[in-house]
Amino acid sequence: MINSAQITNQTAIVTGASRGIGRAIALALGTSGVEVVINYASSSEKAEQVVSEIKASGGNAYTVKANVADETEVNNLIGTVLERSKKIDVLINNAGITRDGLLMRMKTEDWQSVINLNLSGVFLCTRAVARSMLKQRQGRIINVTSVVGIIGNAGQANYAAAKAGVIGLTKTTAKEFASRGITVNAVAPGFIETDMTKDLKAESILSAIPLGTFGTPEQVAGTVGFLAINPAAAYITGQVIQVDGGMVMS
Ligand code: NAP
Repeated sequence: MINSAQITNQTAIVTGASRGIGRAIALALGTSGVEVVINYASSSEKAEQVVSEIKASGGNAYTVKANVADETEVNNLIGTVLERSKKIDVLINNAGITRDGLLMRMKTEDWQSVINLNLSGVFLCTRAVARSMLKQRQGRIINVTSVVGIIGNAGQANYAAAKAGVIGLTKTTAKEFASRGITVNAVAPGFIETDMTKDLKAESILSAIPLGTFGTPEQVAGTVGFLAINPAAAYITGQVIQVDGGMVMS
């Protein structure tokens, strides 16, 4: 739960909410009283489990399957939510993948698939919710980027480029939407223990984290949830907030 006061009558879409950070964000919002749309690409059972957990806590949620790298599927996702929930108050662009490899050997398809989902997917979802959010003159968008988008990372040219792109997209969208009362921010996690990081060599990374531990999805969810629904975040827009144990200080 994010607030002591329950938030009611708000609907949030979380892309990639079946596992990892997206799941933790969905649970944090759902247990705070927000109706949560659990988007996923293929893990339908896991997505339904998230819905069950939210409902068991007294909240409200439902799943919508959509590949957020695909324009038609994104438009169907947003259309389905607008039909069912009538409005969208919060969009969390969280879905992401990695296809790591050194630049010299990186396959074009690995470059393209990461850019398509991690960067173009954020653009497609943001554009698809824009009309209804601008009309209602209220909304919050949070894009999950990465510290790698700030400092780069050998072996992740595609991922770092996409995440750096998300930062530019966040700042531009924040400027374009500000006059309509919509805030747009990015959250940049460091190393968080999820399926995405389970095969990485952990020891060398751990020594680069001043707080001395890897992050949890719940720690990222706390910051995302604050930006998404807390009244105290209403005057924050166009910012990139790192949740990285001090890994990157600039
Ligand atoms: P994860 O555990 O691998 O989960 C990825 C989620 O994205 C899953 O719910 C997956 O759904 C969904 N997804 C994958 N492809 C999709 C598509 N085409 N359309 C819609 N959803 C799709 O990853 P994570 O570690 O939680 O990462 C979440 C976000 O945080 C990503 O943007 C990632 O880049 C970012 N991040 C993670 C870390 C980290 O250390 N873990 C650090 C910095 C940033 P299915 O289950 O259906 O496949």
